[in-house]
Amino acid sequence: MAVAPAVAAGKNRMDDCLFCKIGGGNIPSDKVYESETFFAINDINPQAPTHILIIPQIHHATLLDVEEKDHALIGSVIGVANQLAKERGLDESGFRLVVNCGAGAGQSVFHIHFHLLGGRALNWPPG
Ligand code: 5GP
Ligand code: ZN
Repeated sequence: MAVAPAVAAGKNRMDDCLFCKIGGGNIPSDKVYESETFFAINDINPQAPTHILIIPQIHHATLLDVEEKDHALIGSVIGVANQLAKERGLDESGFRLVVNCGAGAGQSVFHIHFHLLGGRALNWPPG
């Protein structure tokens, strides 16, 4: 799908946001995926053998801040997650795609991101 020019130009980035800084290259990182809409990095504190953060280039603080006009763009994370999971063989073993929304759910970085977890048995319910 077409990407809004403001997204491609990174004009929505916030100066005081960790993931905006990483996305914009202001903080160095080893990106495992990058497109105009998302980038992905290995989590600094992995909770599973595969723990990747898939992060929209556009800044939204929480899932609740995603407006209807951005649903298709943010929803396209499914394609990114499936690709990364397949590359790591997680389509065979299973994986989880998680968003923590709000401090009460464990969100600590307020730029939405999708945790792709796999490579071990994942219990339910989560803690
Ligand atoms: P949240 O708790 O907001 O759902 O997830 C934030 C995640 O970002 C945590 O799993 C945390 O380990 C990870 N994280 C925090 N700072 C950094 C960083 O500078 N680099 C990377 N790669 N991950 C980070
Ligand atoms: Zn941000």
